[in-house]
Amino acid sequence: MACVSYSYAPVSQTLFDRAAVVTPGGVNSPVRAFRAVGGTPRFMVSGAGPYLTDADGREYVDLVCSWGPMILGHAHPEVTAAVQAAVARGTSFGTPGEGEVALAEEIVARVGPVDQVRLVSSGTEATMSAIRLARGFTGRAKLIKFAGCYHGHVDALLAAAGSGVATFGLPDTPGVTGAQAGETVVLPYNDLEAVRAAFAAHPDEIACVITEASPGNMGVVPPLPGFNAGLKELCAEHGALYISDEVMTGFRVSKAGWYGLDGVEPDLMTFGKVMGGGFPAAAFGGRADVMARLAPAGPVYQAGTLSGNPVATAAGLAQLRLLDEAAYEVVDAASARLRAMVTEALAKEGVAHRVQAAGNMFSVFFSGDEVTDYEKAKAQQAYRFTAFFHSMLSQGVYLPPSAFESWFLSTAHDERALERVAEALPGAARAAAEATE
Ligand code: PLP
Repeated sequence: MACVSYSYAPVSQTLFDRAAVVTPGGVNSPVRAFRAVGGTPRFMVSGAGPYLTDADGREYVDLVCSWGPMILGHAHPEVTAAVQAAVARGTSFGTPGEGEVALAEEIVARVGPVDQVRLVSSGTEATMSAIRLARGFTGRAKLIKFAGCYHGHVDALLAAAGSGVATFGLPDTPGVTGAQAGETVVLPYNDLEAVRAAFAAHPDEIACVITEASPGNMGVVPPLPGFNAGLKELCAEHGALYISDEVMTGFRVSKAGWYGLDGVEPDLMTFGKVMGGGFPAAAFGGRADVMARLAPAGPVYQAGTLSGNPVATAAGLAQLRLLDEAAYEVVDAASARLRAMVTEALAKEGVAHRVQAAGNMFSVFFSGDEVTDYEKAKAQQAYRFTAFFHSMLSQGVYLPPSAFESWFLSTAHDERALERVAEALPGAARAAAEATE
């Protein structure tokens, strides 16, 4: 493809100006505002397969895939048909329906440790509810989370690490009180010793450890061998629940998500993104004896007007049913190919970098060293990513607008789409090499 410039986006800019009048920062989720990389956020009007088209009529190869959900590409005909059929039957009943049973059955069949599952509408709701259930089940208040792991905007989980040692969480946003974050112990990722020390410091007080199954929210930082198994063991030893947050990895990196790759059995798990087929559907589930404590079976309250919505469940179910082993092989192969292309382009320009992968999810750290925790992730030369990002964008490749996010592919990322990325990479690698702070 000829090198066309996509840098000037007047219609998107006009829409962004309009949006800023009626919506804080002009967006409904902060990362969309491009604050980490600067420039005009692209307002997208349509998607087809691996491509997005913006309001200025330019087409991009999409390497964000709605932050994970669109694993079959945009507007997949079978998912679209399932949604259209569901919409025609009515969009919400506020009663139980067969679609939600079928989606729950599909999840239970795929993910061994999930005996029962409750459907909700967002990943945030899933983690918030799983933590409430863990506290209700154990009768304990404290929880352990890891710096750099994102679990949605749950008050208690918006707490960042102190300086390396086990520390009580300090809220890292105004509006979260010390009390809400004060029961949260934030520890460095991949550090089992820190977890052991926290359990020793708070005997019989810790309800649960929550971790991303394989983190993708500080860039992709997989668990070191034995880390998840160690968490599971320590939780079992101390009577706490091990919650694996698979909102991002679930049904994306394998049929059974990260659990399908590492086999460590959590007590509770959370899901979102892929299972909603592009609609607001998420879930938490796990051990039958723990789930039995949830209302109306048990005393721990949890509810939702649109939980198990018939359109969202139809989309999710249609998508999951298409995701067989062969589909994951296609995404894995596209990911391996793209990772090799990125490595080659950056190496050619002498740019220090690490491409880190967790199954078919991956991200690029502009750093010479392996990244195993949030501190190392933050130490990268993120300014190089900014230059890289804008060069790719200007050549029609849409990357996540932050150096601390995973890249996502789909079964629709075919030869033509990957070829377009390949053509953009040399210029972007050069821009990264030439970037200055
Ligand atoms: N957990 C993880 C691991 C996530 O990546 C996210 C979102 O990116 C969430 C939870 C929150 O999900 P949602 O944005 O649907 O509330």
